Amino acid sequence: MTLRAILQARLTERRERGLYRRLKTLEAAPSPGAVLDGRPMVAFSSNDYLGLATHPEVIAAQQEGARLGAGATASHLVNGHFGIHEQLQDALAAATGREAALVFSSGYAANMGAICALIGRGDSIVSDKLNHASLIDGARLSRAESLRFAHSDTGALARQLARAATAGGNTLVAVDGVYSMDGDCAPLAEIAQLCREHDAWLMVDEAHGFGVMGSEALPVAGSAAAAGLGEEEVPVLMGTLGKAAGNAGAFVAGSRELIDYLVQFARTYIYTTGMPPAVAAGALAAVRVMQRKPELRQCLQDNIAHFRRGAAERGLPLCDSASPIQPLLLGCEQTVMSVAAELASRGFLVGAIRPPTVPAGTARLRITLSAAHTAAQIDALLDALGTALTGTLCGEGAAREVSP
Ligand code: PMP
Repeated sequence: MTLRAILQARLTERRERGLYRRLKTLEAAPSPGAVLDGRPMVAFSSNDYLGLATHPEVIAAQQEGARLGAGATASHLVNGHFGIHEQLQDALAAATGREAALVFSSGYAANMGAICALIGRGDSIVSDKLNHASLIDGARLSRAESLRFAHSDTGALARQLARAATAGGNTLVAVDGVYSMDGDCAPLAEIAQLCREHDAWLMVDEAHGFGVMGSEALPVAGSAAAAGLGEEEVPVLMGTLGKAAGNAGAFVAGSRELIDYLVQFARTYIYTTGMPPAVAAGALAAVRVMQRKPELRQCLQDNIAHFRRGAAERGLPLCDSASPIQPLLLGCEQTVMSVAAELASRGFLVGAIRPPTVPAGTARLRITLSAAHTAAQIDALLDALGTALTGTLCGEGAAREVSP
């Protein structure tokens, strides 16, 4: 069989199982909206939690940054990088309460690069089963012994840590701070305590926590700071710039030694073209805006509370999430697709998430909230959801009861 014939057969099978993924081409994206096929829509599908992707100050800084050139023209190590990269790294280190930070071109690259640099054959990596794909792939590629534990089950984590201890070598525990498809936070204080007891290093992926939550002293640092944890408990903090910062790229923050070591050994940092200087300039402006404007986080929190109240009143199948990620668990793929299509026909973009991104039987609408949404937009979505979901819930998703 030719490659083309084999691929056609596999694609047909994917279509028949309702798992075929289709790309949307947007004509514009005025936060929190999108223009699709000439129609203005309200987007509840982006990770632009603070509305910074279209913030005038961020865009102006990015345009100014482009004066340095459209691209970085080579890897950071080969061609050097600009002062703006250094300024961004310093700002990220300060925002996360770490000594230093290193920017990567994406969160995927940051996770893969950091994990593979830190552990290898003879070591162990212990991961939550619902970790993001980039952590899972990093664990696989590292060649360390890969041990997984049931989602946020600290008893299961303790058992895997005991197993890892018998293997000798170093142990890295890697978890999402906020789970990207469920929106729940990892029990980081307990996880950090177990890491301390078992002499394991903790790495937290703050892709969805950075910019959104933190402590009084470090309000945008993410979920670990919100749980009262610093560098001692979480020596490897990864965050992305493509979500609350509304831009692109990512970073790892930690001790000076960690950052120096990653520059030497993180292959996804070394062997890839550097972050464009304009992106670094835009991301730096976004970090400054998020630090200067706590009202954005307050507005986001108000929107989350408003959505959850309205969804609970309408009996929608909410999950236990206090983050901007508010999935409605519907169970079967076909229902998710038809409800998402109906919402689109009413002018709302929501994520339709199916296996293999989530476990079989847990297909869901992934609704994400932003500080840029108005209460009226959220109410309109809730009304549309109420109508679209009437009589369509199937499987386990229908029966869940969660407090607002
Ligand atoms: N980690 C998590 C938890 C994520 O949700 C994502 C993005 N979906 C990533 C890492 C990857 O980040 P990026 O999009 O910058 O590659």
